[in-house]
Amino acid sequence: MSLYRLIYSSHGKPNLGYHDLKDIMEKSEKNNQLEGITGLLCYGDSIFLQILEGDSCGALRYRTVVSKTYHRISLDTRHNNPELIECVPIESRIFGVWSMKAVNLSDLNSQQVRNLILKYSASNTLQPQTMTSEQCLNFMQALAKFFDKDASFS
Ligand code: FAD
Repeated sequence: MSLYRLIYSSHGKPNLGYHDLKDIMEKSEKNNQLEGITGLLCYGDSIFLQILEGDSCGALRYRTVVSKTYHRISLDTRHNNPELIECVPIESRIFGVWSMKAVNLSDLNSQQVRNLILKYSASNTLQPQTMTSEQCLNFMQALAKFFDKDASFS
């Protein structure tokens, strides 16, 4: 299997602002394109939840690509307490259209977001540390539908 998915969560630094998120998104798009990484980054309730999907890239094989990216990200001082949720082989990409899509939950309809979080966890605030990897993945897939104009949201 040559394709891997890595999911992790972390705590954003206090007072993380629009410019931090914009910079993270721009760097992610640039670097991930070069490394063949795709995925989704969600920020809400001071928490990051990110999915990285990666293949082999140049001399780097398989899992090494997502693993190296994760380790680089984990050293970034704009967040802390990174927690690895899963790193597993997968058949195909789910977020293949995005080198990285960054979603700030506060930019979305608040009630819809709270309902969505509640649907996939026992809380209406984002707490990935209490969610299984499957719940995290399902939540992120449902969140991605906000940006698919052909999808119906439920
Ligand atoms: P540079 O931008 O030159 O950065 C060099 C070093 O400075 C790095 O260690 C970097 O972490 C640090 N740095 C840069 N800007 C700041 C800043 N404003 N505050 C604190 N430290 C800073 N990068 C990706 O490539 N792909 C991703 O998917 C990705 N997702 C991220 C998700 C989160 C939640 C966070 C916080 C960061 C993410 N990043 C991602 C950014 C990543 O951590 C590095 O900042 C980036 O990859 C380094 O880009 P660069 O090689 O161009 O180096």
